[in-house]
Amino acid sequence: MEGFGHEQVVFCQDPFTGLKAIIAIHNTVLGPALGGTRMWAYASEAEAITDALRLSRGMTYKAAISGLNLGGGKAVIIGDSRSLKSEALMRRFGTFVDSLGGKYITAEDVGMTTKDMEYINMETEHVVGIPESYGGGGDPSPVTAYGVYVGMKAAAKQAYGNDDLSGKKILVQGAGNVGGFLVDHLIADGAEVMIADIFEDKIKKVLADHPSVKVVDPKNVTALAMDIYAPCALGATLNDHSIPNLKCQIVAGAANNQLAKEEIHGKMLLDRGIIYAPDFLINAGGLINCYSELEGYDRERAMQHCERIYDTTMSVLNESLKTDRPTYEIANKMAEDRIEKMAQIHRSL
Ligand code: NAD
Repeated sequence: MEGFGHEQVVFCQDPFTGLKAIIAIHNTVLGPALGGTRMWAYASEAEAITDALRLSRGMTYKAAISGLNLGGGKAVIIGDSRSLKSEALMRRFGTFVDSLGGKYITAEDVGMTTKDMEYINMETEHVVGIPESYGGGGDPSPVTAYGVYVGMKAAAKQAYGNDDLSGKKILVQGAGNVGGFLVDHLIADGAEVMIADIFEDKIKKVLADHPSVKVVDPKNVTALAMDIYAPCALGATLNDHSIPNLKCQIVAGAANNQLAKEEIHGKMLLDRGIIYAPDFLINAGGLINCYSELEGYDRERAMQHCERIYDTTMSVLNESLKTDRPTYEIANKMAEDRIEKMAQIHRSL
């Protein structure tokens, strides 16, 4: 907690339902800590704690740089989501979230479903990401994809002098929820899109709408000749092995934690002259969508807020060019500065 600067970490356990959960509240200077709940069969409690601490800290930065009045938090439920889940367990977890009185707001993450969110919602109002039929924001992926798209355009503006993506060779790695919606935007702009996925059905779904998309082997995709690489599958694809072989001018995608090691790989990209649009900045659409739910959900407003990712990305990239510092470092500093300034004005009230 001290190392990452956390405010509060709550351990929850309930022998009746088998619930073991950790709620990590990193920072609430800007507002209540918002972040999804992840259900995972962690090898140890220590591993679960580390995950909760790391993920909640990331949420603080994502909210801060996106101009949201939210802090960073995250919860993890320890256990196999396929065998341990029950209505009682989810509702018991909901009571723990409720006991924090709104300091932590939960949402869906890996291993959780909208049904689980409905159960949690039966015990607490401090939950977002609920289905549209319940007055929620529904699937955040189209909003996330739109943010990635505008962030990519900002990067193109810096790399090519204009943000037109037509004719650009773009690889979307991971044709899932976000990747699929991103392809829609890119095709509409006249880009030459390539996709890679490990599952045939995901590929087929994209091809059904866009037969012109080129399918590439998911192995070694980072070494392909392309203008823009959009990681939309897993994290850590920017590492010691991939960066020396990249042939693109831009990296801009939805995946979380794309840099295997921030300090090392952010600098490597800078040294290679490759523009990296920081992941937590351009993939914030999902969080923006959740935030919009707190204000009475309106998808148009969420999309408009998302559009600001263009200007923020532009500022980060310009500063990086001016100071020859990696983009992730500048984005982190921007987030920290906003938190510090808001802490200051509240202290002076
Ligand atoms: P998803 O599971 O729908 O899509 C991921 C896709 O990547 C799947 O189709 C999967 O088969 C594919 N994949 C997995 N390993 C691969 C590999 N080695 N090569 C190629 N494809 C591979 O997930 P999603 O919701 O689209 O999210 C994509 C990424 O964006 C994730 O890293 C997620 O954490 C991040 N993200 C998503 C959102 C959101 O709103 N959904 C918001 C912020 C960040």
